[in-house]
Amino acid sequence: MEKLFGLFGHPVQHSMSPMMHNDAFAQLGINASYRLFNVEPKFLKDAVSGIRGLNIAGCNVTIPHKVSVMDYLDEIDEEAKTIGAVNTIVNDDGKLIGYNTDGRGYFESLLSVLSRPLEQHKVLVIGAGGAARAIVTVLAKEKAEEIVIANRTVEKAEELANVIEGVKATSIKNAEQTLDAFDIVINTTSVGMSPNIEEIPLSLEKLRQDSVVSDLIYNPINTRLLQEAAQKGANTLNGVGMFVNQGALSFEYWTGQKPNRERMAQLVYEKLGGKSC
Ligand code: NAP
Repeated sequence: MEKLFGLFGHPVQHSMSPMMHNDAFAQLGINASYRLFNVEPKFLKDAVSGIRGLNIAGCNVTIPHKVSVMDYLDEIDEEAKTIGAVNTIVNDDGKLIGYNTDGRGYFESLLSVLSRPLEQHKVLVIGAGGAARAIVTVLAKEKAEEIVIANRTVEKAEELANVIEGVKATSIKNAEQTLDAFDIVINTTSVGMSPNIEEIPLSLEKLRQDSVVSDLIYNPINTRLLQEAAQKGANTLNGVGMFVNQGALSFEYWTGQKPNRERMAQLVYEKLGGKSC
């Protein structure tokens, strides 16, 4: 019988996850399909009960449910607990287990552009929302040499820094002035996302040309931040890798099989109308 997987979110209609997962199921000969479920917040509890009731094999969870869904699960993986959010649910014979693949998915894409271990990198994370939390948790666990969070609302950066050992907080202005101290700069804000493609989250005046600049945004593929960083000679990383890797890691939790990540990325680039890089 066909297994059913899906994405719970609100809204969800523009998600590229069905395309990516359904292709991977077909490639691996798995009899399964992945659907979108537009779940209003007031019905989240019912929707999660529906996973058990309808024997849905697994789900992804996206905005705005990543935190609230935790209340309705039977078990939560340690890393997801530390992050404080779940983006993947596995239905293990009626027991619902929550995971978070965002931070690890990001970390794996970052590794592809680093020429030395993360331990030897000072990291500046711009933004202090959900994505920043997942990324900072994993980069701290993987022992980045230093992590500083800069955010428009400094209090939120401080709140996040306070719960992860060794992490510091600062203002965007201060981050701009000390930019040459960092080896990796990661934008986790939505600044620069379509349609506001001319926006940039901070000035790159003091960027070192041997640094890595990464943007979680993948629409557009090449944000203004990445364009300016490349002009300064920095190595750049867009958000497609994170998107593909978090999906691939969910897929592995559900099926125990490894999907072809290059093929997944190719599909995403085709959909976004850009070239893989
Ligand atoms: P979130 O929890 O809402 O956090 C948003 C962050 O952006 C906050 O730090 C916020 O600062 C900052 N921000 C928003 N508008 C701003 C502005 N005009 N100027 C300065 N700062 C601004 O969102 P999230 O879930 O972390 O997602 C953030 C971004 O990551 C989105 O663009 C999302 O698409 C992307 N993302 C990508 C992937 C991927 O797979 N590639 C995965 C997850 C997320 P304040 O605290 O001051 O409001």
